[in-house]
Amino acid sequence: MNAHQDSPANSAPGATPIKDASDDSHAATDTTPIAAVRARPYKIPTDLPEADGTFEWNATTIVVVEIDAGGCTGLGYTYTDASAASLIVDTLAPELLHADARRIRALSLKLWRRVRNLGRSGLAATAISAIDCALWDLNARLVEVPLVRLLGGRARECVPIYGSGGFTSYTDAQLREQFVRWVENDGCRAVKMKVGSDPARDPQRVKAARDAIGERQLFVDANGALTVKQALDCAERFAQHGVSWFEEPVSSDDLAGLNAVRCAAPASMDIAAGEYGYTADDFRHMLEAEAVDVMQADLTRCGGVTGFLQAADLCDAWHIPLSAHCAPALHLHVAAAAPRLRHQEWFHDHVRIESMLFDGAPRPRDGAIMPDLSRPGCGLEFKRRDAERYAI
Ligand SMILES: [Mg+2]
Repeated sequence: MNAHQDSPANSAPGATPIKDASDDSHAATDTTPIAAVRARPYKIPTDLPEADGTFEWNATTIVVVEIDAGGCTGLGYTYTDASAASLIVDTLAPELLHADARRIRALSLKLWRRVRNLGRSGLAATAISAIDCALWDLNARLVEVPLVRLLGGRARECVPIYGSGGFTSYTDAQLREQFVRWVENDGCRAVKMKVGSDPARDPQRVKAARDAIGERQLFVDANGALTVKQALDCAERFAQHGVSWFEEPVSSDDLAGLNAVRCAAPASMDIAAGEYGYTADDFRHMLEAEAVDVMQADLTRCGGVTGFLQAADLCDAWHIPLSAHCAPALHLHVAAAAPRLRHQEWFHDHVRIESMLFDGAPRPRDGAIMPDLSRPGCGLEFKRRDAERYAI
């Protein structure tokens, strides 16, 4: 799908009530008008059936966004429903066309206002996130610098990763094999497994994982499957196997429940959540409720690079560490720049997709990934031909 300056989308309704980002009359020679916005969904089968505490799936959908301006193309994407591509092309792109691509903040405000009546969270937020990432990538390419430099430079030399998979659909042997690969081949110092679909079986699975990884850190993620009492019971059992991170023990909509688990869980175990934070308000509410020891944020959901930095600044003000959720190739530059970032999730499904679809996807070394400072923008090139067979 494509919206460009000759398209009817250009004259579509959706006029913004705020001053247009291309309205700077004195800056006529200093603007970089957006010439085209493209969005396309792709559905990639998983290598094995995957499941967690509350969901199962056998394919993952990615919506890839490209924005042209000033002779460059910015790339962004989000893992969401295919319908986000229509939302981008039909509803959001008209807000962007002809506007100055360099005014990312103004464009971001326009997009959030455009979806007011649709609801900011969920689908709309994922669509805006992909656009925002493409705009930041585009801006870095326009000045021929790696994105991290546009973000103020690296706050850390590299971004530690933790291997994430250990699906409830795996056999113990598959779980062990995956974890050993991350620990031995990629140097991961922590790995994360899914729990919660069968709490009675989980302690045995957790023990199998512990036996496989030795002294490395072991994280678990229940994806909101448990009640507070179940979660506290599990926390005690998991602590016996040295689990140091319990993610979404209860639904992240239940902030009081998260706080209750956090207050009563073993002190050696961090309570984490935040992957469903779509707006700065979501992160603020979570922090005000003292719901987490470590906040998670996902730039493919929370408003892109702009939203991720907002989440990072909120965490900084609350003295809470931040962990980047999924989509490691797209997070890499902002993760290298953000304050208080602890680590990046190296999610099996997304790592696989990103290495298939994007030239320049990071490869771990000694448990960390590093931005390639020789490449402009986020350092990724979309392998359109390779992606074509997955196009929806
Ligand atoms: Mg999770």
